[in-house]
Amino acid sequence: VALCEAEEAPLAGSKPCVENSRFNWKLFWQFLRPHLLVLAVAIMLALGAALVNVQIPLLLGQLVEIVAKYTRDHVGSFLTESRSLGTYLLILYGIQGLLTFGYLVLLSRIGERMAEDMRRALFSNLLRQDIAFFDAKKTGQLVSRLTTDVQEFKSSFKLVISQGLRSCTQVAGCLVSLSMLSPRLTLLLLVATPTLMGVGTLLGSALRRLSRQCQEQIARATGVADEALGNVRTVRAFAMEHREEERYGAELEESRSKAEELGRGIALFQGLSNIAFNCMVLGTLFVGGSLVAGQELTGGDLMSFLVASQTVQRSMANLSVLFGQVVRGLSAGARVFEYMTLSPRIPLAGGYCIPREHLHGAITFHNVCFSYPCRPGFQVLKDFTLTLPPGKIVALVGQSGGGKTTVASLLERFYDPTAGAVTLDGRDLRTLDPSWLRGQVIGFISQEPVLFGTTIMENIRFGKLGASDEEVYTAAQEANAHEFIRSFPEGYNTIVGERGATLSGGQKQRLAIARALVKQPTVLILDEATSALDSESERVVQEALDRASAGRTVLVIAHRLSTVRGAHHIVVMAHGRVCEAGTHEELLKKGGLYAELIRRQALDVPAPEMPR
Ligand code: ADP
Ligand code: MG
Repeated sequence: VALCEAEEAPLAGSKPCVENSRFNWKLFWQFLRPHLLVLAVAIMLALGAALVNVQIPLLLGQLVEIVAKYTRDHVGSFLTESRSLGTYLLILYGIQGLLTFGYLVLLSRIGERMAEDMRRALFSNLLRQDIAFFDAKKTGQLVSRLTTDVQEFKSSFKLVISQGLRSCTQVAGCLVSLSMLSPRLTLLLLVATPTLMGVGTLLGSALRRLSRQCQEQIARATGVADEALGNVRTVRAFAMEHREEERYGAELEESRSKAEELGRGIALFQGLSNIAFNCMVLGTLFVGGSLVAGQELTGGDLMSFLVASQTVQRSMANLSVLFGQVVRGLSAGARVFEYMTLSPRIPLAGGYCIPREHLHGAITFHNVCFSYPCRPGFQVLKDFTLTLPPGKIVALVGQSGGGKTTVASLLERFYDPTAGAVTLDGRDLRTLDPSWLRGQVIGFISQEPVLFGTTIMENIRFGKLGASDEEVYTAAQEANAHEFIRSFPEGYNTIVGERGATLSGGQKQRLAIARALVKQPTVLILDEATSALDSESERVVQEALDRASAGRTVLVIAHRLSTVRGAHHIVVMAHGRVCEAGTHEELLKKGGLYAELIRRQALDVPAPEMPR
């Protein structure tokens, strides 16, 4: 029990404070560990490149010194004297390029592999979460953790290693050479640079805020387009194209004006920083020039100083940009890792499997109470007791919203009851292997069959991965689907389109039945399986269902009472309780709620409000 509660806590707690979750360094270390060797090499190459970068200004200064000598004296050959220095510089450029190439290749290798591992781990952990978890989260939000957040984390990681390391080394190295060249000029630089950086950082943070707003606005616009394109049938059916155009247009306009504002801000920032940098160069030349005039500094050293100080400034600007990136990367990483450590309360597998020859399929709900985890105050089932005898058909009827689908969900163990127990052949479902229960014992057919965008063959085989072609054909025949599948030019290889969009409702439902039958389930749940169909499709589907029900424990959930007359036992539920039970004749004779429902439906008027 303690374990259960301990696991429950993060689920309940994660809802309000998603954004505040801390970055999980331990988990990050696990992803990084396999790449440590490569990372060490990359870091060494990056350090090497930075050190070479520090050398270059000094050599450039020496070259300028030679140039200056020739402007004064005009003796000897400039080319011979400068050749070795030039060659050395060229070699250094080459080494610098090679090192840069090397560490960038290695870093992208590490980054991409870590991103792949992270996506894999996150996806598999997401798939393991409780159904209750998905009730509370938006799919789009989960998908964006897999895509955007991993992407953001990866690029921050790469930037920190490449840019961060290089910038820090360059700042340190160049400051050393600067102070060796001229301590006085360096002191001047040390006063001016932080002041400018402070102003720059302020402006930069305003720009970052603007950029975040910009991104949010783009996401809003994308959301509108996504909704309209994803539900294009509904949009078309209501002739809402124009309204959707306007809605998208308005969001686009908003995001354009935001982006323009950002563009102006960036332009201002760039313009101002250009002025600042140029003034710094001018100032250095001025002060340095007076030092040169006073014989305290050579012209070449001044040149070296200029180039090195430019490197320092560029590096420090890089570091300030990097800081923002680190903050964003850490929060993206925290979002990725948050769902990686979350463990579901109902595991996917593990527990007892009843051997096939001992499996009868007797199901009992013993005084079950239940409320959905995302709505704890609202009790859906109250002291609910129901028995499904093996091989018999039991119908569950009652008003919409009365909790019928909830009963089916508890049987599939999508949720666990808050009190009481559900048993299969006398064993509590909580002691049985959930994967075995869902994969081999229970066949579930719902009102809205969901198909995957692949072939008919693959869709049916979804019920049992190793099913042979023969098994698929048999299941399709049982489900009354074989004929229509054969009539398609591509037969079983027909692609059904996204969510089965290219099939009629009745055809989709028959494929869903075939998919459930291919695993030869002992227990069959039919949750309003025919209520979305027209009467002709209903007849064909009902025929398939009647055939599939023979010899199985069946729970038929139905709103339309015409479909439950064949049941051995009818249970009427209202407000989460069983209020009547018996055969069709018994219940009619009793003249209670069922008789009233039958009378109303015969007259074709809406179902009555049931008394509490
Ligand atoms: P029925 O199938 O009889 O129409 P349901 O079992 O679907 O009824 O729903 C019973 C009650 O539980 C309804 O009030 C519904 O709003 C609520 N409910 C259903 N599914 C969820 C869910 N995933 N989270 C929270 N409440 C739910
Ligand atoms: Mg329902």
